Amino acid sequence: MPTYEYRCEKCGKAFSLIMSIRERETAKIVCPYCGADDVTQLLSACITKTSRKS
Ligand SMILES: [Zn+2]
Repeated sequence: MPTYEYRCEKCGKAFSLIMSIRERETAKIVCPYCGADDVTQLLSACITKTSRKS
């Protein structure tokens, strides 16, 4: 299964999660350090993601 890397915008720590694509679509990603859900996925896996900047 692919590894996804995230960075917490709250505490600034980076972490990686291993999960299936289906899990990724449904799971709620939270920071393992502080529990915040304000996380940004880092560019690691080549997954087409629709992210828009407002
Ligand atoms: Zn955090």
